[in-house]
Amino acid sequence: MPAWLSSSNAFILGLVFTFAFPWLAPCAVETDTPLSAASSIRIDCDFPGGNIVLDSIVGDTVSLHQDLRDTAGNWFYWYFRVRGAEGRNLVFRFTKSKCIGVFGPAASSDGGKTWRWLGKGAFSGQTFRYAFGRDEREVRFCFAIPYVEANFREFLKRFAAHPHLKVDTLCRTKKGREVERLHVGRLDGKADRRVLLTCRHHCCEMMASYALEGIIEAVLAGDADGQWLCDHVEFLVVPFMDKDGVEDGDQGKNRKPHDHNRDYAGESLYESVRALRALVPTWSKGRLDFALDMHCPYISGQYNEFVYFVGGPNQDIWERVGEFSRILEQTRTGPIPYVAQNNLPFGKAWNQESGPLKSFARWAAELPGIGVATTIEIPYAHASGTTVTADTARALGRDLARAMKAYLQTRR
Ligand SMILES: [Zn+2]
Repeated sequence: MPAWLSSSNAFILGLVFTFAFPWLAPCAVETDTPLSAASSIRIDCDFPGGNIVLDSIVGDTVSLHQDLRDTAGNWFYWYFRVRGAEGRNLVFRFTKSKCIGVFGPAASSDGGKTWRWLGKGAFSGQTFRYAFGRDEREVRFCFAIPYVEANFREFLKRFAAHPHLKVDTLCRTKKGREVERLHVGRLDGKADRRVLLTCRHHCCEMMASYALEGIIEAVLAGDADGQWLCDHVEFLVVPFMDKDGVEDGDQGKNRKPHDHNRDYAGESLYESVRALRALVPTWSKGRLDFALDMHCPYISGQYNEFVYFVGGPNQDIWERVGEFSRILEQTRTGPIPYVAQNNLPFGKAWNQESGPLKSFARWAAELPGIGVATTIEIPYAHASGTTVTADTARALGRDLARAMKAYLQTRR
């Protein structure tokens, strides 16, 4: 079976087939809708990042659920497209575990180029409504605002031939995809400070990618802060640690037997983790000032609706995270709030010892000459009273870059 034709996609194709050619249908689908009404609706996820399993279409109610694939337990990522529903008012009902966030689904009417949150009024529990405009031939819906390789390629176009950006390859995945690796900032090997940034160890955690864009654009902005960073710092950036998961639309979090962010002990399962572990000690030459792994938390609730850093057991490193955090708190200008007090030290709430597996941050904390090694959690939708969007997340990234500059200036 080709990679794009997952079992769920095959099932959806079956449903489309059923509605289009009922006399040839391979299996019965529960519906009490007159064929003329139901037959026009097509729901699929056959595009990068797509994920959905369609249960049924009955009247104006579409029942569906997220495709968990190899996830241990439940998670909440989904992303699908609806066509042929012009002028209809449909109800979408999720039939499995909780998977609608604080501001409801995000929607796009231009093929995924721009997105908006449907907002609190559009959903109740696990059900949302959407009134399709008479000319809306295609609408995409997603748990949050998707970010796949095509978004990253589009972003890079803005910096084509930039002297402080080099696009390279970290490795190829099991499925043959390229895992990009960027070098940003001072690239002549004479940088006196080094920063490592990684994203999408958990492939569904898409909002972190917009913040990563913000960091990179701040380094390359050409203003005084960017210039200092380009004079002194080499950034090594891996934007998609789980590239196959991002493109295939997997959950990624709690992937069996363990996920990419639990792959840093013993022999790594994943090509990207193996390649990063081999590269970084050589690249950093005994001095790695800052290692930041960018994540999004759970759907909602405590520790899921504000930005925070996650601590490891090394108290010296945690103190340095605290220094950086205070700078970020003081220098932030973007709309997403940040309060250092919200940081999550090791041993508190969910941040507990988790057995023999090792995360990126725990691995980075053991590298020679490490300064800061930590994880940032960026909410999907709601952060301390502010709506997280592509733009506000990018602004948070620019705030992070400015704070890194101020922090790194204090490190000689
Ligand atoms: Zn994560």
